[in-house]
Amino acid sequence: MPERGLLLVVSGPSGAGKGTVIEELFRRRAGLFYSISATTRAPRPGEVHGEHYYFLSKEGFEQEIAHGNMLEYARYCENYYGSPRGPVEEKRAQGLDVILEIEVQGAMKVRHNCADAIMIFIMPPSVGELARRLRGRGTESEDVVRRRLETSKAEVQTASAYDYIVVNDEVERAARDVDCIITAEKLRSQRYTGGFLE
Ligand code: 5GP
Repeated sequence: MPERGLLLVVSGPSGAGKGTVIEELFRRRAGLFYSISATTRAPRPGEVHGEHYYFLSKEGFEQEIAHGNMLEYARYCENYYGSPRGPVEEKRAQGLDVILEIEVQGAMKVRHNCADAIMIFIMPPSVGELARRLRGRGTESEDVVRRRLETSKAEVQTASAYDYIVVNDEVERAARDVDCIITAEKLRSQRYTGGFLE
């Protein structure tokens, strides 16, 4: 039986660079599984169903909730987002470390329901830099960018509820920090199942 994988929750404001940090983490570290979320928001150009998200209708999403298939879900900027439960359980049982890249309301639900979840907040260096990154992405209207910035400011207030804060001023360094967190978590004495006396 492989040792059960970790459950890593990664949050941070839209534009904090969570996605880029996670991509870099995958280059550095094996044994990870990225949980593909479901959402009711429309796909952005280039986004593929089943790869970036499972794009569901509002009714479809609500059915998944009713069937208990979401480990957590939240409404964010007028859309539903949620983590399908099945793959998370399955991959952890196989010994893979599962990453949930989710916003703060959903993260707090995971914290409440999964006592062993490891909570990491990716912090942008400043609000000015965050605005620059969001506008630079060019995928959202100015109105959406403004709303996301407002949401971001509220999200940053919750950072102290996380176990770790990683400032993303440079992607490689931030990914290395997350890598170190995972290594340290695996070395926790409570997780020691090794066979010294065998
Ligand atoms: P975006 O629309 O930019 O892809 O995502 C908006 C926000 O929703 C991001 O903060 C992202 O991390 C979060 N998000 C993505 N998937 C999930 C999920 O499954 N659950 C929750 N609670 N948030 C999610």
